[in-house]
Amino acid sequence: MKLTKDKELKLEVIRHSAAHLLAQAIMQLYPKTKLTIGPATKDGFFYDMLPEENFKEADLEIIAARMKELVAKNYPITHEEISKEEARRIYKDNPFKLELIDGIAGETVGFSRQGDFYDLCRGGHVASTGLLANFMLTGLSGSYWRADQKNAALQRISGTAFEAKQELENYVKQKELAALYDHRKIGKEMDLFSFQEEGTGFPFYHPKGAFIINKLKDFIRNIWQTHGYQEIITPTVLDVSLWKQSGHYAHYHKHMYFCCIEEKEYAVKPMNCPGSILIYKQNLHSYRELPLRLAEFGHVHRFELSGVLHGMFRTRAFTIDDTHMYCAPEQLEAQIVSSVQTIDKVLTTFGFKQIHYAISTKPENAIGSDELWDTAINALKNGLSKAGKSFEIYEGEGAFYGPKIEVTIFDSMGRAWQCSTVQVDFFMPQNFDIYYINNKGEKQQPVIVHQALLGSLERFFGILLEDCKGHFPFWLCPTQIKIIPITEKQLDYANQIADKLKDLNLRIQIDESSEPLSAKIKVAQLERIPWMLVLGQKEMDNNTITLRYVDGKQEFGLNLEQVITKAKEVNRI
Ligand SMILES: [Zn+2]
Ligand SMILES: [Zn+2]
Repeated sequence: MKLTKDKELKLEVIRHSAAHLLAQAIMQLYPKTKLTIGPATKDGFFYDMLPEENFKEADLEIIAARMKELVAKNYPITHEEISKEEARRIYKDNPFKLELIDGIAGETVGFSRQGDFYDLCRGGHVASTGLLANFMLTGLSGSYWRADQKNAALQRISGTAFEAKQELENYVKQKELAALYDHRKIGKEMDLFSFQEEGTGFPFYHPKGAFIINKLKDFIRNIWQTHGYQEIITPTVLDVSLWKQSGHYAHYHKHMYFCCIEEKEYAVKPMNCPGSILIYKQNLHSYRELPLRLAEFGHVHRFELSGVLHGMFRTRAFTIDDTHMYCAPEQLEAQIVSSVQTIDKVLTTFGFKQIHYAISTKPENAIGSDELWDTAINALKNGLSKAGKSFEIYEGEGAFYGPKIEVTIFDSMGRAWQCSTVQVDFFMPQNFDIYYINNKGEKQQPVIVHQALLGSLERFFGILLEDCKGHFPFWLCPTQIKIIPITEKQLDYANQIADKLKDLNLRIQIDESSEPLSAKIKVAQLERIPWMLVLGQKEMDNNTITLRYVDGKQEFGLNLEQVITKAKEVNRI
């Protein structure tokens, strides 16, 4: 679900103007600051600057207070064109703005003014500062001039702004919830994963975290098998010539890791597609084999600036459940029906019931004939319809190499996420010159569909962790049942029960500590173990079990058979 174009533009204008407001406050409070750029972003705005003395978190409050004063003053915001000569004179002490001026075509540059403040700017503002009341500053971080680490280190102040007060309040509420259930915090509490200085941005999975990731893989593997996908494994480090051919070297160089051995240059794969294509090219393919669905858990590395890393949401290495489907163009529609049904099943299994579909269509600089685009877009439309899904059209928002289905899910805090992808690709088949033999015995180019069900497993893990607040579905939990003998006298009884449950492949732990019952329960709750079997003298004498759920609800006097029946019930995917 996207904002309407109108609303999106409105927000962009407000946020861009709020960046000026921030800069105005900064220049009043810290006049020696050198401003660089301050754009609107998807969620808000930021301004990058070189302060005389580094800002601290606490300064944000002072800056926000000044911004509020400037809102109250309600300065008109005006725009004009001035000569580059004049602009250079105004910015004679600011090398960043001078560089920006040099980069602007023509003899004049745009200039905006509000009260005592001016800024280099293309334009597009609200009429006056009074319209910017619903803003907040959200953070302080490091950045680099032109996002390049070789350049000057800057400071970034980020914020957001809305049209209506209610929208800002909703945003704040959502932020508070998100902070409360931050996956980095819960992940630490549950001992699932860590991040360490020796590998910034690379997750370390602890035993329980690795268990969950492997369970996710098992789940996906099962789906692959039932839908005729074949699993492949491709190398992590590949000759740089491959990345030159794929175009990644030219366009994605900044995000790639390289290494050189015996004077040969290699790159660590940032994507899995070229490896899959090399496997496709090893054999001659007949139309009878298509669609050929080659799937892999592809572990990719993508360099990101440390400022944008965010726990499992944004890492520098992650695993994609990545399928490349080599289809004849006429097979696209049937494949899309199946893909959409599969995505739907996967996402609802994890409790994401609200799923929104959209199709991104041909952009301006697209490759491929109109006919090919029309066929593909119709296939996506018909595929979604036949799968029983309604959808929106995002006109002109597809990638240059093909249309795409955008799948958005909403979590328990109302946040939107994109995990699954279905991307049609006309470019790679052409670029790598792949073909199959059609029913007339001629060579024909297949279409590739890049499909991921969960997307980055790391990111999905983080989203799921926050969505369920650490309470994973029973089938996914590293420990499903903790058996708690109240004293050591019940330890034998506990072991008997544990053995029977383990025989059923349930994952069991016994708390053998000498802590009091309340402490044992607390530990199990913190570990988010869904079930506790509490065994006291009474239970042992009557050969029964008290089943205590993690939320505190209890069932007394159950026999083992009843517990097993209940466990089988929830241990299903
Ligand atoms: Zn502006
Ligand atoms: Zn791909």
